[in-house]
Amino acid sequence: MSGTFYLTTPIYYVNDAPHLGHAYTTILADAMTRYRRLAGDETHFLTGTDEHGDKIAQAAAKAGISAQAMADQNSAQFRRAWDALGLGYDDYIRTTEDRHQKVVQAILQKLWDAGEIYLGKYGGHYCFGCERFYTDKEIVDGKCPDHLTTLTWIEEENYFFKMSKYQGWLIDTIQGRPDLVRPERYRNEVLGFLRDPLLDLSISRPRTRLEWGIPLPFDDRFVTYVWFDALLNYVSALGGPGDPRFEKFWPHAHHLIAKDILKPHAIYWPCMLKAAGLDLYRHLNVHGYWTIEGQKMSKSLGNVFPAVAPAEKYGIDAYRYFVLREMTFGLDADFSEAAFVTRLNADLANDLGNLVARATTLIASHAREAGAPGPATADEETVRAAAAEARRLLDEAMAEFAFQRGLAAIWEFIGAVNRYVDTTQPWSLARKPAERPRLDRVLVTLADALGYLGIVLEPFVPGAAGKIRAALGMTAPPRLADATVGRLDRLPPVQKLSGLFPRVEDRKPAVAEPGAASPAAAAGTLSIADFGKVELRVAEVLAAEPVPKSRKLLKLTVSLGSEQRTVVAGIAGHYAPADLVGKKVVVVANLQPATLMGIPSQGMVLAGSTEGDGALAVLTLDRDLPAGARVR
Ligand SMILES: [Zn+2]
Repeated sequence: MSGTFYLTTPIYYVNDAPHLGHAYTTILADAMTRYRRLAGDETHFLTGTDEHGDKIAQAAAKAGISAQAMADQNSAQFRRAWDALGLGYDDYIRTTEDRHQKVVQAILQKLWDAGEIYLGKYGGHYCFGCERFYTDKEIVDGKCPDHLTTLTWIEEENYFFKMSKYQGWLIDTIQGRPDLVRPERYRNEVLGFLRDPLLDLSISRPRTRLEWGIPLPFDDRFVTYVWFDALLNYVSALGGPGDPRFEKFWPHAHHLIAKDILKPHAIYWPCMLKAAGLDLYRHLNVHGYWTIEGQKMSKSLGNVFPAVAPAEKYGIDAYRYFVLREMTFGLDADFSEAAFVTRLNADLANDLGNLVARATTLIASHAREAGAPGPATADEETVRAAAAEARRLLDEAMAEFAFQRGLAAIWEFIGAVNRYVDTTQPWSLARKPAERPRLDRVLVTLADALGYLGIVLEPFVPGAAGKIRAALGMTAPPRLADATVGRLDRLPPVQKLSGLFPRVEDRKPAVAEPGAASPAAAAGTLSIADFGKVELRVAEVLAAEPVPKSRKLLKLTVSLGSEQRTVVAGIAGHYAPADLVGKKVVVVANLQPATLMGIPSQGMVLAGSTEGDGALAVLTLDRDLPAGARVR
């Protein structure tokens, strides 16, 4: 199979910092493009940023910079994130670029000339404070959600695209092409929208209200509004109709989106393409949302998950593997650190990492005396058949963007190879000289299986796949066609490869020994979830006194706001009791009570110290907070 493949992510709106949701879509696109390239296709992967509109203009005004400078700054953030994650986009389109604006204006002019656009009246609920319309959904008790003032119904002239006339055509098209919008649940959702009458689409805003946009070519008192600017990026990035890149890639266009922008992509966009005389895309592939530790990701909950963070902590491959494996394409999924660590340890460190370490060590230590392998047996046939079956399932899954099923198929194969090692017991064969040809057959089969993994894992965990291929001396670009077991008849030189995915130890929260004044140093890393179990609070020191017969300990009476506690701290060598009274310090409030020198201690005061008998300083606040305030 070889062909042409064009895949796009949405262009991300630059009023946001890149987060997990953006990263997921872009990782999917990267994995799919790598897969299609592996299969022999010529691929083109487009991502970019959406940079016009009120929100950008307002944010820029607030920051005292130009809208363009604001867009430049925020667009660069996205680009940096994708570069940090090693995502191999071929093109990065920005809607403020000339190449985009030219194509948008050309298509608008064409539609205007063809009578597809007309000047009409747009009415809506308007807030003069915000200088914008609010939709019925956004309005709270008839008022502006920001100003809480009553909205005014105003009507203004605007240009409209005659979308309503395409309703029948669109329904027929979606019914005639069952996998145009997929998975099927979203196709059904779109057909559901289309049961209501389709209205014409307002495509402009007067420049008196919105300056930051692309002027309409036939009336420069107006700029295009949202979708006629944003959606056209998929076409403008290829140079637009007539450009050789457009003619080559557009017939093979796949879009990848999250479900929040289903309607514009499944309804507005096909109508726009039809009106402009352009072919419809091949497939619209729609994925669900990530929740974070069981909660919806939202700015107000403060749990918006930065795009690059998991890669910084656990590595790019582990991040890719987790999101690709954990989310069933099309459905929602939860991003929990516990689930992440479980998959990393079980699937990557144990199943894959151990297999690679075990097999490369065996091969490397027996390669020197290797001869002609003995005949293949039913055990080798099992591995060969498992490899072929995994390929079949992988190809089938990837044709439907079912990344999780593709990975499950590869892991079935890894399981089969692990069982093969257990069954054939190469280490005991190695002790019997008469079994040497049999040992060589087993080692050749393992080398073959690793080579196979070095290819099929490339779209998903490219770093690890590259290391596996390098260990096997595979220097040519990987090709899916070579992913078969049974190719090798002599043992190739192989380098030992261990620690492909180090295990992450699941550590308990670091808890100090009773009586110690500073928390025990935690080796390794602690998950955010585990850290969250440590309840740190601001405490006001109400009283302090020496503990009799102790040179180190002070007995403190502290207020946590709603309660008083006694805490014994080993800081007498560094603080006089009187110096502490009235200070606000930080205590671990949910530490198991301990009795020190006969005094029950209900908590621990945090302090920093140098090694040995050096300096010690109790943590205080650099501005005031009430006693009891949570520290995180
Ligand atoms: Zn308002």
